[in-house]
Amino acid sequence: MTAMNYRRLGHSGLKVSELSLGSWVTYGNQMGTDVARECMAAAYDAGVNFFDNAEVYAKGESEIIMGEALKRLGWRRSSFLVSTKLYWGLHDGPNEKNTLNRKYLMQAIDGALARFKLDCIDLVFCHRPDAETPIEETVRAMHDMIAAGKALYWGTSEWSAAEIMAAWQIADRHHLHQPVMEQPQYNLLHRERVEKEYARLYADIGLGTTTWSPLASGLLSGKYNDGVPADSRATLKGYEWLAERLTDPAKLAVARRLAPVAADLGCTMAQLAIAWCLKNPQVSTVITGASRAAQVTENLRALDVVPRLVPEVMARIDTLLEDK
Ligand code: NDP
Repeated sequence: MTAMNYRRLGHSGLKVSELSLGSWVTYGNQMGTDVARECMAAAYDAGVNFFDNAEVYAKGESEIIMGEALKRLGWRRSSFLVSTKLYWGLHDGPNEKNTLNRKYLMQAIDGALARFKLDCIDLVFCHRPDAETPIEETVRAMHDMIAAGKALYWGTSEWSAAEIMAAWQIADRHHLHQPVMEQPQYNLLHRERVEKEYARLYADIGLGTTTWSPLASGLLSGKYNDGVPADSRATLKGYEWLAERLTDPAKLAVARRLAPVAADLGCTMAQLAIAWCLKNPQVSTVITGASRAAQVTENLRALDVVPRLVPEVMARIDTLLEDK
């Protein structure tokens, strides 16, 4: 298999494996510690060094499972990166949910450290923007979290370009730790933000990106082309909203049009979709998802497909995406 590359996370000195593994939906809903450990081991053995998580995933359970898996795996702490993301909260009080105020952030990071059983989280994201907290308050709290040794780098997730720029400028002006990375959705069906809205931020502030849902939650693997598979996330209770997206006729039509491209390249559709994300040099790491180790193994082989995505193939894909 093609060796893993490590990309710099934006202008920071941190090296992140170009493929990484996240825990949304899967940990706590579809798997416990044993399968999580199996998936993480398959990824780590192939060079993955970043494991993504969030406070809200399975209401804190996802961080507990990942922490237990890490303990059992016994890897050197300096050899891997873990993240969490804060915003939605775990409780209903006015300062405990849907906020990036100082009170919430400073206590939420302590909760994450306790669940992971770690001293420090490598990457901490503000999971969504909060229109009711001044950006300066959030920037100062994130700086203090890093200054206290509880986190190493901070960033945002699904913030607008203007919000990211505002945070960066406040940090720059006051000599505070700047946001280093953004975590946006990026896949064949969702390109605008990474390719257009953030275009200036890569050079201007050295933004790194840890992109999510390369398969649009599985749709781009082609597995929904002939109906909903019984063992898929679309059948999970509480994810009816996601099932609706996974059965969207317009999106499925795109997946069907892409199938011959994968066949011609001699790869699976999932590998094609992940390799396509990797072709974008502004992507620091593609966060993949998997509910079983076999999917991890298949998806890692996307690394073999990247060199096959020559300009003619990329142009063919663009034409298929535009086809109405
Ligand atoms: P994907 O779009 O890659 O979807 C992953 C899911 O697709 C798997 O869990 C599995 O679901 C299915 N799948 C994976 N590989 C294959 C394959 N080879 N063949 C068929 N089906 C496959 O990624 P996610 O949506 O899981 O997102 C990845 C990560 O990104 C998350 O874990 C999280 O860390 C992060 N994220 C961040 C968000 C944010 O707001 N910042 C939002 C969402 C995700 P199934 O069980 O159905 O087979």
